[in-house]
Amino acid sequence: MIKKILIANRGEIAVRIIRTCKEIGIKTVAIYSDADRISLHVILADEAYPIGSSHSTESYLNISKILNVIKKSKADAVHPGYGFLSENADFATSIKKIGVNWIGAPTKAIKLMGDKIAARNVAKKHSISLIPGSKNSIKNINSLTRIANQIGFPILVKAAGGGGGKGMRIVYSKNELIAAFDRATSEAQKAFSDSRIYLEKYLEDPRHIEIQVLSDSNGNHITLGERECSIQRRHQKIIEETPSPYIDDTLRNELSKASIILAKACNYEGAGTIEFLVDKNKKWYFLEMNTRLQVEHPITEMVNGIDLVKEQINIANGKKLSISQKDINPSGHAIECRIYAEDYLINFQPSTGKIIDYFPPAGPGVRMDEGFIRGQEVTSHYDPILAKLIVLANTRKEAIAKMDRVLTEIKIIGPVTNIPICKDIINHSTFKNGTYFIHTLNQILPEIINNQTKKIELSNTALILNQHQKKIGQIKTDDMQSNWLESGINDGIE
Ligand code: ADP
Repeated sequence: MIKKILIANRGEIAVRIIRTCKEIGIKTVAIYSDADRISLHVILADEAYPIGSSHSTESYLNISKILNVIKKSKADAVHPGYGFLSENADFATSIKKIGVNWIGAPTKAIKLMGDKIAARNVAKKHSISLIPGSKNSIKNINSLTRIANQIGFPILVKAAGGGGGKGMRIVYSKNELIAAFDRATSEAQKAFSDSRIYLEKYLEDPRHIEIQVLSDSNGNHITLGERECSIQRRHQKIIEETPSPYIDDTLRNELSKASIILAKACNYEGAGTIEFLVDKNKKWYFLEMNTRLQVEHPITEMVNGIDLVKEQINIANGKKLSISQKDINPSGHAIECRIYAEDYLINFQPSTGKIIDYFPPAGPGVRMDEGFIRGQEVTSHYDPILAKLIVLANTRKEAIAKMDRVLTEIKIIGPVTNIPICKDIINHSTFKNGTYFIHTLNQILPEIINNQTKKIELSNTALILNQHQKKIGQIKTDDMQSNWLESGINDGIE
């Protein structure tokens, strides 16, 4: 049985894994780069080891350094979290080779489903509906134009080994095709050391809906409902909710059935996610499978009352799933906002600096998966995600009201965060009505940014007025002023 887990990750996901381990009596080992010397995951873990400079290739992506810490700490298992090495089959293999338990997907499944072309072929073999596209990677310009014409524009040029929206290009007409293909190829080579590109029909206004799967090593597979992830900016999710306001039980069952077929097809073990796109006519298509814990997994945990990390550890211990499909009965409505350190007024540029102060959100049905503490430095070395704010309520309307309340309450003082943007999104009519698609945020963002800019201008004018009035003795409330200033540091407005 697993007794000590090394978490090969950082930030909020490392903290989240450590928290479950503590609850079930498993010791934890943190690794950290120079930039993360003072950080929450290091403080919370039972042991912490430095692994090198801040550049991820020198630390969190460096397999041999991590293997050294595993040996030194005598950890008997590794949890990779998401990102970094979580879907790296070589890492999984090298962990298993030294007799250490890998709390992740089987190597074969990582390889098969991590390759988007191979995954599409698995789905095709099992008659799962696919977005029209090329069967293989594009070999030359002739086949590029021929296949593109067959599919019909608009087309998405996609990296076979891609992820996180990288190596993806939308092409609206024939004359943009070759340039887009060349750019995607070099981006894919640089980011994933895999230059293979394939084509997919670009769906104009779909929803991104995904199914959580749990599979044990005894061949049992269950699904835990869907997550609606259509609030995206540059193909990156920002706000997720479950249940989806878009789908009914019939569609939910169809997606679950397809997910089980795919989990079985790749002999899956552990927690995995099958992603689908659903179009305006509710026709659905398999998009890809993520063979790891997903960023947005907490909303599934909230409505199901299940700890997915605990389930992952049970599965890695060779145990049967502690729950069967008939036990899965999600209740209530959960929403997650990803809190990013980014400056929405400068084109969402990552915002860095010390966390000067932090007022955590609280109250019934509120969960904050944060990866930082006061005094911690936010650097530009890693993904700008600071935390995930999750709420659970009985109904969708109540969940939105709760999220609105907590987004007002929470204060992160230091780097600029996207908190005001999340607040404006959940209060936007398209979110409130549940009628949004994956491009909705791009459409409403200019209006949201404009409103934010106006608010800041107004608050600056009010601040000058206030200071002036104070000078002439009309207002003496120093405290009021400093409170106002402090909250202004957080989101620049309130
Ligand atoms: P990644 O591995 O980067 O997450 P995905 O294939 O999952 O790449 O796509 C990420 C996002 O890109 C999707 O959620 C969706 O918004 C968009 N996308 C991907 N494929 C298509 C498509 N064929 N048509 C329209 N949008 C797509």
